[in-house]
Amino acid sequence: MKDWTLEEIIELYNSPLIELVFKAATIHRQHHNPREVQISTLLSIKTGGCPEDCGYCPQAARYHTNIETNDLMSLEQVEKAAIDAQAGGSSRLCMGAAWRNVKNDDEFEHVLKLVKKVNNMNMEVCCTLGMVTESQAQRLAEAGLYAYNHNLDSSEDFYKEIISTRGYQDRLDTLDNVRKANLTICSGGIIGMGESVEDRCKMLLTLSSLRPQPESVPINALVAVEGTPLEEQNEVPIWDMIRMVATTRIVMPTSTVRLSAGRTSMNAEGQALCFMAGAGSIFAGDKLLTTPNPDINSDMQLFETLGLQPRAAFAKREQACSKEVTLSEQERQEKIKWSRPAHKIENNEKYKEIGKQKRKDQLV
Ligand code: SF4
Repeated sequence: MKDWTLEEIIELYNSPLIELVFKAATIHRQHHNPREVQISTLLSIKTGGCPEDCGYCPQAARYHTNIETNDLMSLEQVEKAAIDAQAGGSSRLCMGAAWRNVKNDDEFEHVLKLVKKVNNMNMEVCCTLGMVTESQAQRLAEAGLYAYNHNLDSSEDFYKEIISTRGYQDRLDTLDNVRKANLTICSGGIIGMGESVEDRCKMLLTLSSLRPQPESVPINALVAVEGTPLEEQNEVPIWDMIRMVATTRIVMPTSTVRLSAGRTSMNAEGQALCFMAGAGSIFAGDKLLTTPNPDINSDMQLFETLGLQPRAAFAKREQACSKEVTLSEQERQEKIKWSRPAHKIENNEKYKEIGKQKRKDQLV
């Protein structure tokens, strides 16, 4: 596995686009079936009310957005969503909860049951629940989890301009905990938040330096949601997405690069170039957590036009066998400590005040 330098990654990213796509496509063909694209479904099992201040996220309680919040979904609701997802061609279900970190409580115990249920339906189960300790990751693995998602979002430097309630090192520690539990890692980022090309490449350097490299790398284009501190960001140019996908493919040749949020503003030709450049997965369903996503019919049409086929579950790694997992009293008492940098981000503070005012106005 090559050890990349930042300079090499920047040079790749900035290379002539057609050369970059050709190089990425060549590498993609060496490690993946270029006609297979995994369809995944992202299900928000607990929406909104998050205590964090991620500047891009409509689920942060402190901002005022128009999302519908919901408490943790029941086993029946998740089972139904998984059946629908499977019927729509999805081989992976990613369950997301708007939490800062996992706690050893009844809600976590419920999530373990959800994981077991979906794994027993022969789907790859991924969870994105915030920061996890090693023992929590271990319990998720025992329940049958396939992957844990925890995005780095951007470079360490730029991260500080977007989030003040969590440290970058906590994210890396979470990924380490996930790896120690022998789970596969899903970790990527978002472009279009105002970061530089260097920030994008630094994030790729950090991800590509992990050993083993993450099995899954989602690349998101910011969806600027009204009421969030990043609401005024311009749409990400399609060429930036293609460059980012291609560069990711080259520096992490065996990972599945996931073309994630922001596809509604990409045309079919742009997406086709992303598939050429190494994207091996899309998220299906009309919503990605809380933001819009193309409907399954238009995706299926695109697959037919391009001659793509959905990838089956467990093509890259064997399915885990779910075990009965309940939390012991000792585990429930475990003291969990994550850092809270709490530096001030002016724009986040501004939108927090706007959120406060809007909530006050609604009460009048
Ligand atoms: S991205 Fe996740 S952690 Fe950040 S505010 Fe949204 S739900 Fe919370």
